[in-house]
Amino acid sequence: MKAYRTVRGMRDFLPKDAETMRQVEKFSREVGQLYGYEEIITPVVESHNLLAAKAGEEIRERMYTFKDLGGRKVALRPEFTASVARLVATKLRNKPKPLRLFSVGSLYRYDEPQYGRFREFWQANYELFGSTRPEADAEILMLTKDLLLNLGLRNCRFKIGHMGILRGILSQENLDERQQNRIMQLLDKKRWEEALNVARSAGASPRCLKILKKVFETKGKDAFQVLGRAEDDVQDYEEAVAAVENLREILELAREGGVKLEVIIEPGFARGLEYYTGMVFEPYVPEIETALGGGGRYDKLIELFGGQPIPAVGVAQGVDRIVLAMKTQGVAPKIVKEKVVVIPVGEEYVAKAMKLSSMLRSAKLPVEVEVMGRAVSKTLSDADRRAVAYAVVVGPEELKEEKVVLRDMKKRKQRVVEIKNLCEAILGSLR
Ligand code: AMP
Repeated sequence: MKAYRTVRGMRDFLPKDAETMRQVEKFSREVGQLYGYEEIITPVVESHNLLAAKAGEEIRERMYTFKDLGGRKVALRPEFTASVARLVATKLRNKPKPLRLFSVGSLYRYDEPQYGRFREFWQANYELFGSTRPEADAEILMLTKDLLLNLGLRNCRFKIGHMGILRGILSQENLDERQQNRIMQLLDKKRWEEALNVARSAGASPRCLKILKKVFETKGKDAFQVLGRAEDDVQDYEEAVAAVENLREILELAREGGVKLEVIIEPGFARGLEYYTGMVFEPYVPEIETALGGGGRYDKLIELFGGQPIPAVGVAQGVDRIVLAMKTQGVAPKIVKEKVVVIPVGEEYVAKAMKLSSMLRSAKLPVEVEVMGRAVSKTLSDADRRAVAYAVVVGPEELKEEKVVLRDMKKRKQRVVEIKNLCEAILGSLR
């Protein structure tokens, strides 16, 4: 029999790899739920017109496009954003804002296959509609960081820029959108000189070219210092100054929100897609050169798909690249495997034990309640036999003060803990 192979750029996922992919998918869905994002499922096949409408030129050229048997020109989706925008402009148009949407699934681009680049790949996609405020941008950064952290990844860095910086300069120099897009595409590929040449032949002033050159060179790890420098450089361009200010606010919020972001600011960094209007960012880990995801603000998108103007900010996490990063760092998500047993000291404490077990489970701890009516000592020796990590003993003395006994089974030590601190006491000792 002829030995069939997968089509170039397509992959099989054998059990171990399939498991890791699904694990990342599960975590991405969980983070979405924690931040209030509702899942939607859209079709893999969409009309070519929709998908081509606002994708950057590069993606447009690499779409899997074909005629279906009914003669319709269709394509496999190369990204989620067009489908989500279609929904927000139509079926979801009357939904109250803010609207938070999540989708996860496979996408298709006829990219040149290489390390971390495939023709079928997966993304977890989050979109927040209805807010122009910096806290919405900060939320997307925080969510991205939480996902990567929950999966066990270390040393994540965010490369961050703002489309308003360059677009602000170029608009004030009267370059039209097409010329601006051309420049953005070149910048995305780090072809700085060519980008400057395009600006020059489009009529940008010598002073503007000098400033652009400076902006391209502005990058550094101290976000606030870099932004200060950028603000000085672009001071003659009102919109560009506002963009720098906006980025500063977003980063301050993310920092004050308790998130430690390692940031590389590159005001000249422009993501290739044409619809970005504000902050743009990409998360990285040091071991892998390519971005793990990409996101930013695109306030004009819904309008372009025929809807009312609705501001939007979002991120697409590259599931395959995240899996590669996890393999390279040799990390796995932290899943609590240690079990807790909750033991009521007699009939009248069973209900309370049930209640405490729910509380512990909502903190993601695997919990068993003693359901055999056995004495505490018997349950404890049974728990020992089955390698349970913690026992919570619910009895009259401690309950009077809203407390319980927490026993570390391995160390054979116990202490009295306030119920309100119980989850943290267990989780804390697992860390
Ligand atoms: P984009 O939709 O181009 O902004 O990409 C967002 C993220 O999707 C990237 O950072 C990658 O993690 C992932 N991605 C994009 N294209 C590919 C591809 N051909 N193969 C694997 N992952 C990809």
